[in-house]
Amino acid sequence: MLRAALLGLADGVILFDPGLRLILCNAAARHRLGWVGAPPRRGLTLASWLDHAGGLDPAERSVIREHCAALLAGDAAPAPGRDSAAAEKDLAFGDFTLRLRRLDGQGIMISLATGGDDGEAALRDPLTGLGNRRAFQAALAAALARAESEAALLLLDLDRFKHVNDSLGHPVGDALLRLVAQRLRASLRAGDTLVRLGGDEFAILLPRAEGAEPLAERLVDLLSRPYLVEGHLANIGVSIGIARAPADATEGGMLLRRADLALYAAKAAGRRQFCRFRPEMDARAQARQALETDLRRAVALGQFHLYYQPLLEVASGAVIGFEALLRWAHPTRGMVSPTEFIPLAEEVGLIVPIGEWVLRQACRAAASWPETVLVAVNVSPVQFADGARLLRAVDEALAGAGLSGMRLEIEITESVLLHDAAETLAILHDLRGRGVRIAMDDFGTGYSSLSQLRSFPFDKIKIDRSFVSEIEGQSGGKAVVRAIAALGASLGMTVTVEGVETEAQAHFVASSGGHQMQGYLISRPVPADDVAALLARLPARTARLSHETRDGI
Ligand code: C2E
Ligand code: MG
Ligand code: MG
Repeated sequence: MLRAALLGLADGVILFDPGLRLILCNAAARHRLGWVGAPPRRGLTLASWLDHAGGLDPAERSVIREHCAALLAGDAAPAPGRDSAAAEKDLAFGDFTLRLRRLDGQGIMISLATGGDDGEAALRDPLTGLGNRRAFQAALAAALARAESEAALLLLDLDRFKHVNDSLGHPVGDALLRLVAQRLRASLRAGDTLVRLGGDEFAILLPRAEGAEPLAERLVDLLSRPYLVEGHLANIGVSIGIARAPADATEGGMLLRRADLALYAAKAAGRRQFCRFRPEMDARAQARQALETDLRRAVALGQFHLYYQPLLEVASGAVIGFEALLRWAHPTRGMVSPTEFIPLAEEVGLIVPIGEWVLRQACRAAASWPETVLVAVNVSPVQFADGARLLRAVDEALAGAGLSGMRLEIEITESVLLHDAAETLAILHDLRGRGVRIAMDDFGTGYSSLSQLRSFPFDKIKIDRSFVSEIEGQSGGKAVVRAIAALGASLGMTVTVEGVETEAQAHFVASSGGHQMQGYLISRPVPADDVAALLARLPARTARLSHETRDGI
């Protein structure tokens, strides 16, 4: 009867004999420890019992092993040396507590979370009521207990959740996560495991390899439908990575890593979609890792250079400035293009020190040019995340070079204004206060170009070169360039056309009202040392820069 009572107890109970052989391990204990495989037999050693506890990590297992041994060693001590304190040990593992108790002469009892629902709580995400990361690990270990086990893992990451959370506030963000959990729960079948891993990440484990893709497809559609949250309409999406066992991995950690690589690919491909793991993703992850290592070294070794490309004023044919363009002279890869390494540098935060170097270097170069010639520097959205640091970097670069702020132009892309627009606008105004000009780069390629023109009085818009290359075709490039040039002029902004490669394009730019142009036709970007020669060939403008007479107008 005692045995039956212990086995049926809602609290987890495990008994070991003095030789640390299992006497009993009830269902509640197995459940809470993420038990893997069939219920254990009597006589199992502590070590192999621990091996089945999928919810415990290796460090936790060895702590339990040590303390059991220590308690038993205390048992062997002479009676006067014993006290009740030494007969018991509580082990708190993050959100989990185990109590080890020496049963004098009879072995050891391990109990889990006596009192209330703590054991369950340790496996649950309080916000959504779904399982948490620990529950997921246990489920993953259980699902892959046998080498031939079939399973599919879907890793989900919400798109634009941060945006909603930032703009509508955390209570709305929390409510939104609960609605997402509801939609997910409603799409699953019995036997599927759904957990929230943290933040806006969820995971679904299917006990079969098939069916993952149709489910992912449905979820991408379902989760991107609008949500009504506390009176707000919120729009988010989801990116999903899929890995399957045994095809992609037979072990939990590997399955998770591969699903994560697939998730990364889904995001890189533009979000709101799912991707299945493919073997070449491993190779790409390694290449990325190598690139990141090289990039860190490049910062330390000073392998970066700036090239300069002239900006030509259409009306006078004079050079009004140069755009600084980053180059990486890699010892084995040769000149690496910024489009290849800037996204990674942004992701790992290296763009901040690199961007500061660019500012210093560009200002120093400009100080040696004629006073009428300005320098344009591209600044990454990531640098705007720490506005105070960016402003300090600009001030130091200008002061270090003895350059007036009026000779510096900062080029931003519209993605800068997508996050925390109010904060960004304040930084732009502060820059403007120093005389620095602000240009909107790659205009027309983003989502909301036009509305962004209203949010800040840009000094300049640079029409993306994709429109210019279409000028000669029938696809409307001409109309777009003309319309943007007219729009810019009526807003009092200088209009620069990028990527001018042919005479025909240059003529079109001139006839459609573009103020400035930049492109291979005038010059490719050149090293700093070649700027003087270039200025000898192409005249610099004669008028000095001032804010009253904006260049080109
Ligand atoms: P961007 O700011 O739009 O720079 C113009 C890009 O167009 C440059 O590419 C330039 O070499 C190229 N280009 C100029 N004229 C022509 C032309 O006639 N035809 C064609 N096909 N291309 C032309 P680059 O140097 O490879 O730079 C690519 C992008 O990398 C830049 O686009 C900019 O967004 C980013 N970038 C470059 N330097 C920096 C930097 O220092 N910091 C940051 N954050 N981004 C940078
Ligand atoms: Mg640019
Ligand atoms: Mg551009």
